[in-house]
Amino acid sequence: MSEKRVVLVTGASRGIGRAIAVALARPGDEVIVNFASNTAAAEQTASAIEAVGAVPSLRPFDVCDNDSVRESIKDIVKTHGRIDVLVNNAGITRDNLLALMKQSEWDEVLETNLKGVFLCSQAVVKPMMRQKFGRIVNVTSVVGVTGNAGQCNYSAAKAGIIGFTRSLARELISRNITVNAVAPGYIETEMTQRIPEKAREALLAQIPAGRCGAPEEVAAAVSFLASHEAGYITGQVIHVNGGMYMG
Ligand code: NAP
Repeated sequence: MSEKRVVLVTGASRGIGRAIAVALARPGDEVIVNFASNTAAAEQTASAIEAVGAVPSLRPFDVCDNDSVRESIKDIVKTHGRIDVLVNNAGITRDNLLALMKQSEWDEVLETNLKGVFLCSQAVVKPMMRQKFGRIVNVTSVVGVTGNAGQCNYSAAKAGIIGFTRSLARELISRNITVNAVAPGYIETEMTQRIPEKAREALLAQIPAGRCGAPEEVAAAVSFLASHEAGYITGQVIHVNGGMYMG
């Protein structure tokens, strides 16, 4: 691994993705902040990255648009010379009971959360194979393992990420590329602020830690899996959930 890493974090304008991008940033590293449309928030992530002495760049693209993903990652490799770490973090929810779920709610969630992971991973695999080093970390969710009423679409996508992670890990470990997943429980971000108060209380009651998690606590696990020291760990899912689920 080169001393200075080139890191790409998808969905890094806010929430968990921002915390990951900042946690991964070491002095001299080049940290690419992907997001969908929220440039003002992405600029705040960039400032936090700059504050630790790393070099941020903003790359808005839609993770489920194959052409944009391919062009952007090709350009990143051309500009920065390599890509050491990919964190597939971008994700959305469109919650509904299955009986009421629109096909568009299913499609949007599967596209962003699962197809996005496929497209971004596929685009970095060749450069990582050429440089004989890589770290891919996928952000899944506790509900990808436990299920959750109202989230058939989201939990299917997140369970899909776990299968994808394990298969790709087997394909790439001989090339010194690891592929792992981090499964957050209930983390305080804009995504969870949308949960109604009663449902939040019910969720908290299921967490032995008695509190929700902070994005930085997820970022710490991602940071470890992206490190040089984690080179013998692949195909794993690290749960960061305050004891909500113990696999
Ligand atoms: P968030 O606050 O809603 O942020 C979502 C991020 O994803 C934003 O940066 C957004 O960009 C970006 N994004 C959305 N669609 C995109 C697309 N098509 N292409 C590129 N970027 C896109 O979410 P979060 O709570 O931090 O969640 C981050 C990840 O953790 C997700 O994968 C989520 O499923 C997972 N997770 C979260 C929790 C939790 O409790 N929060 C629990 C388990 C798992 P814009 O700002 O431009 O919209």
